[in-house]
Amino acid sequence: MTGAPPTHRLPDGPLPPGTAYQLVHDELMLDGNARLNLATFVTTWMEPQAGVLMTECLDKNMIDKDEYPRTAELERRCVAMLAELWHAPDPEAAVGCSTTGSSEACMLAGMALKRRWAARNADRYPAKDARPNLVMGINVQVCWDKFCTFWEVEVRQVPMEGERYHLDPAAAAALCDENTIGVVAVLGSTFDGSYEPVAELCAELDALKERTGLDIPVHVDGASGAMVAPFLDPDLAWDFRLPRVSSINTSGHKYGLVYPGVGWALWRSAAELPEELVFRVNYLGGEMPTFALNFSRPGAQVVAQYYTFLRLGREGYRCVQQASRDIAKGLAARIGELPDFRLLTRGDELPVFAFTTAEEVTAFDVFDVSRRLREGGWLVPAYTFPAHREDLSVLRVVCRNGFSEDLAALFLDDLERLLPELRRQQGPSTTDREAATGFHH
Ligand SMILES: *Cc1c(COP(=O)(O)O)cnc(C)c1O
Repeated sequence: MTGAPPTHRLPDGPLPPGTAYQLVHDELMLDGNARLNLATFVTTWMEPQAGVLMTECLDKNMIDKDEYPRTAELERRCVAMLAELWHAPDPEAAVGCSTTGSSEACMLAGMALKRRWAARNADRYPAKDARPNLVMGINVQVCWDKFCTFWEVEVRQVPMEGERYHLDPAAAAALCDENTIGVVAVLGSTFDGSYEPVAELCAELDALKERTGLDIPVHVDGASGAMVAPFLDPDLAWDFRLPRVSSINTSGHKYGLVYPGVGWALWRSAAELPEELVFRVNYLGGEMPTFALNFSRPGAQVVAQYYTFLRLGREGYRCVQQASRDIAKGLAARIGELPDFRLLTRGDELPVFAFTTAEEVTAFDVFDVSRRLREGGWLVPAYTFPAHREDLSVLRVVCRNGFSEDLAALFLDDLERLLPELRRQQGPSTTDREAATGFHH
């Protein structure tokens, strides 16, 4: 290690593994500390046993279902468990698959919606001016903009208004027409952690059907909330209990409590997943149905998801999510008591809350707070809201398994220690808001 190795050119010769390891390891020391990252929703802590299992499965390719039939079986069991958890009318008949995350799951669900719309309108085809559209709140995660761009679907977004920071059911129904492939409801908005009113949305769409005959399916993007609500809000009907909900996705690597990347997509029944989207792969041996964008994909995360289901069970998940919610609510309440801040949400839906500076605060803004918190290693994103609340900038804290009561107290100490200095500022010091805005998804 007397000289730096080339970084943008394949080296001429090999290095001893110990040296190569040390070089890569040392460089990665400069990455952030995942446990102090209050920006991400993604799991940053698992039990050591899960790590051992994942290491044992590093060489398993999920697509080789014939070579690794037990891994394929664990995937099938996870789908069945989720179908039951989300109240599929006939869990045995629910269809679903693992993915690399919610983004891929949303692409698959969106594709199914688009195919079903095309099938419904087969008699109008090929009507050149029939351009499919998808209705959603403006607060959706970026994967829905991607879906619409990649699959050439018009995006129809309901803007925020006043103190409403997510989808309005009546406004969403008003955007629907005969070319609407579906409406996306987000269980757990990434902007503020609030649940969207899925049941009210379904009721609006039922009324729309009465009036106009348009029968629009709902997809629930439960990236976070689909693994929180079943345990902490069992009476909230957001899932397959609502007949209009045709598919649901979640990120196994968020509140599913698995390291990245695993996600899940489930359909109410085979009728919601057009058969022509399912490919039968036979050259690896066997005749296996697959529905995925990727071909090869790691199997370890699926195994880790099954381990976590087995390890925690319903009661374990309830305890873990309740602890996160308790910490989020406690921390939000303490921050809400400070004269400097105003809460938008309180951590009582997703264990996530957003807050902004109080009306009378002129010495600093949320971007200053975010920047100063970094001095202590805390990653708390600050960002501006979309239309029609571009005037509003917030900070957001995501409480996850591993963000203990202890760490929350240390975080609050650090925040309170910064405030006297911030209050003495002449005004917000951040001029480049784009640069200050952390990646908040
Ligand atoms: C995180 C998130 C996504 C994207 O999920 P990945 O698992 O990161 O691909 C989509 N929608 C919502 C609501 C999310 O929170």
